[in-house]
Amino acid sequence: IVDARAIHKHFGHLHVLRGVDLQVAEKELVFLIGPSGSGKSTLLRCLNRLEEPSAGSVTVDGIDMLDPRTDINKARQRIGMVFQSFNLYPHMTALGNVALALRKVQGLPRADAEAKAQAALERVHLADRADHYPAQLSGGQQQRVAIARAIALEPRVMLFDEPTSALDPELVGGVLAVMRELREDGMTMVVVSHEMGFARAAADRVVFMADGLIVETGPPGEIFANPQHERTRAFISQIE
Ligand code: ATP
Ligand code: MG
Repeated sequence: IVDARAIHKHFGHLHVLRGVDLQVAEKELVFLIGPSGSGKSTLLRCLNRLEEPSAGSVTVDGIDMLDPRTDINKARQRIGMVFQSFNLYPHMTALGNVALALRKVQGLPRADAEAKAQAALERVHLADRADHYPAQLSGGQQQRVAIARAIALEPRVMLFDEPTSALDPELVGGVLAVMRELREDGMTMVVVSHEMGFARAAADRVVFMADGLIVETGPPGEIFANPQHERTRAFISQIE
C-alpha cells in the first residue's frame, strides 16, 4: 500500500536520504529504527510529502504522491500522522479537537463530526474524557486524542514518529496499547520508536536505517537476536 523507491533527500549540501526503498503491505506494521540523524523522520515526512523528496517515487494507496497533478491535500487524507508533540488546540475539548479535523478535512456538519469524533475517542478509550480540555488530560491521554483525531479521518495508513518519546514512562503503555489495538483492527502502520518491546510484540518487520540508507530489514526476532550487519549489531547492543 506504500511503495517508496530510490528516495533521495538533500537539505542544502546535506544528503539525508541516499536511495531508500520502502514497501509496506496492507495491514503490515513496519517498525523503523536507527541512530539519531539517520533520516527516519525525513523518510516518514517524504511519504506524505511533508518533505519533497529530491528524487525517487512515492505511491500510497495507488496514488502517485509526487505527481504535480495529484491533489495532495486529498491524498494526505489517506495518511494519518502522529508526532511526538500532540498539537491539540488548548481552547478546544478532546471532542472538539477531533471533530474540528472532521469538519475541516471532510466538510462534515457539526453533529455528524461530533458523532464520528465520539466514536474515535471510544476507540482510544477516552469516551469519558470527551469534554476535557488538553490541560485537563495527561500527556498519554492527549496523545490518544491525537491518535483519535487521525483515525477519525479513516486513513489507509498511519505514520507514527516517536509517539511516546515525550511521555512520562508510566503513560507510555496506554498509548502503545492503543497502537496495538489499531494494528489488530488491521491498520497499516509505519512506526518510528525506541520502544523495542513494542517492536518485538507488534511489528511484522523491523527496518534499520543508518546514514540515510536502509541497512537491514527483517522480522523483529531476527533483527534483534541475529543482526547481519555490524552497524545493526552496534545499534542494537547499545539500545538494549
Ligand atoms: P532522530 O532520531 O534524532 O529523530 P532522525 O533519524 O529522525 O533522527 P531526521 O530528523 O530525519 O533524523 O534528520 C536527518 C538529518 O537531516 C539530520 O542531519 C537533520 O539535521 C537533517 N534535517 C532534517 N530536517 C531538516 C531540515 N528541515 N533542514 C535541514 N536539515 C534537516
Ligand atoms: Mg526523528
